[in-house]
Amino acid sequence: MSKIEQIRQLLEAEQRRLGALVERTGKHLYRRDEPYSADFAEQVVEVENNQVVEQLDEDGKRRLAEIRSALARIEKGCFGICESCGEEIKQSRLEIIPHTRFCIDCAEFHN
Ligand SMILES: [Zn+2]
Repeated sequence: MSKIEQIRQLLEAEQRRLGALVERTGKHLYRRDEPYSADFAEQVVEVENNQVVEQLDEDGKRRLAEIRSALARIEKGCFGICESCGEEIKQSRLEIIPHTRFCIDCAEFHN
């Protein structure tokens, strides 16, 4: 199996994991429209939970978008090329952050 095929499988596994996560957080957030518990202490816990879930939901969606765009780059055959300077991204970096769009030098300016 080629390196890029390995990375593609990693990305696809992560895409499935995040897809399931975002589905769960989405359901949770949708349910929020139901009235809060009468008990004030419980309400506080619910609001805090919702903030955590919202954060998870946002992170999940953002990472999912990154992974989808990495998979699209694999399809187009331009995976592993830095979008900023056009240089090849080091293999070791891709193994750690397969969805990255930038080489290590350019990443500093895009974070
Ligand atoms: Zn670069």
